[in-house]
Amino acid sequence: MTKFDVVIIGAGAAGLMCALTAGQRGRKVLLLDHSKAVGEKIRISGGGRCNFSNLYTAPKNFISHNSHFCVSALNRFTQQDFISLVKKHEIAFHEKTLGQLFCDISSRQIIEMLLQECAAGSVEIRLETSAGKIKKSENFFEIEVENATTNAAKKELVQSESLVIATGGLSIPKMGATGFGYDVARQFGLKIKQTIPALVPLTLAEEILCETKNLSGVAVDAIVSCGKISFREAILFTHRGLSGPAILQISSYWKHGEKIVINLLPEIDIFAQLQEAKKSQPRQQLMNFFAQFLPKSLAGFLASQVNHPGNLSDLSNKKIQEISDLINRWTLTPNGTEGYAKAEVTSGGIDTNEISSKTFEAKSVPNLFFIGEVLDVTGWLGGFNFQWAWACGRAAGERA
Ligand SMILES: Cc1cc2nc3c(=O)[nH]c(=O)nc-3n(C[C@H](O)[C@H](O)[C@H](O)COP(=O)(O)OP(=O)(O)OC[C@H]3O[C@@H](n4cnc5c(N)ncnc54)[C@H](O)[C@@H]3O)c2cc1C
Repeated sequence: MTKFDVVIIGAGAAGLMCALTAGQRGRKVLLLDHSKAVGEKIRISGGGRCNFSNLYTAPKNFISHNSHFCVSALNRFTQQDFISLVKKHEIAFHEKTLGQLFCDISSRQIIEMLLQECAAGSVEIRLETSAGKIKKSENFFEIEVENATTNAAKKELVQSESLVIATGGLSIPKMGATGFGYDVARQFGLKIKQTIPALVPLTLAEEILCETKNLSGVAVDAIVSCGKISFREAILFTHRGLSGPAILQISSYWKHGEKIVINLLPEIDIFAQLQEAKKSQPRQQLMNFFAQFLPKSLAGFLASQVNHPGNLSDLSNKKIQEISDLINRWTLTPNGTEGYAKAEVTSGGIDTNEISSKTFEAKSVPNLFFIGEVLDVTGWLGGFNFQWAWACGRAAGERA
């Protein structure tokens, strides 16, 4: 049986950061993942350029049943700390918008950087290796591991003083996501907050979809609200409903049966504009009025929703109000989301009350750590989820 100081299951963003930190402290670390490569989500993120952090990262950018849980780790390993690491490795990057930091060239540079740092800490990495049964005795864990590449797939037992679970959430199962982390939490009696897909496109019911389907690919700048929460970014019409950054953001707050409200023209008071246009261009058709501000196909769709065959001169104030509500407060009830297959992250997860916010060790199980997306902490779109993974990976790596 091989003995390690630390075994980390899951070589994603959080697991890699934890491994390099513990390794560079002189701990003997095994990092294992059942995928063929480390950091697969890093590789595909940000359209291949990895939105690796956000200049404005703050606790308000995270959703959790315990909004204070993320504070300590985010303060101790900040976006500037990660930027320093990126600069040390001479990786060129830029701010795209809203503080979002992307590699100029490729997300593979971030993976390479993390691997070099792991090598500096002599971390042993085993890929295509899955973890099975876990047993805890007083002083160590025994983990059954199985390598899928060995001809006669054989199970091996490894022993470690500390065990770190960094297996992520349930989003994108075809990239290796599993519920393993939650199973381990259950095995040790830890509670789990209900998991749901987040940062995910919303779907619309057939009645509305049959009309919006033709708009597939159209994007506009909008404010999308759900209750008291609003985001201003692009929305995108899709063949199943709505996507785009503003919709992904609001999806993390939206619950089944709730309405969302979309302001399709945030800068324009349509009520005032229509009253003015009624006087200045009384013969204008509604669709042409909309097309001054919005893509033509969307203008046509909106005009069809209003059912006003005449021109602007015929509009009553009541009708103008109805139209302005449609444009500035378009209210929709999505019928669902595109689920884990399309979700960027999983909301919910291991109850943070079970975990130390300083070390990420389970309060009731000494030397068992949980980090990253497997926990009930979900970042907004924009580099916050990686910053969370780096921050808690670092915190656990300093203790495990
Ligand atoms: C398409 C997409 C784009 C994204 N873009 C961004 C972005 O630009 N910026 C941003 O901040 N966030 C982004 N995210 C979110 C971000 O990728 C995650 O929040 C982050 O990767 C979570 O890190 P993690 O280490 O907790 O989990 P993961 O990165 O998911 O890593 C978990 C690892 O555990 C392994 N694993 C799972 N089960 C087992 C098991 N039983 N045995 C062994 N190994 C196992 C998996 O193979 C995986 O390698 C994106 C997500 C997706 C899906």
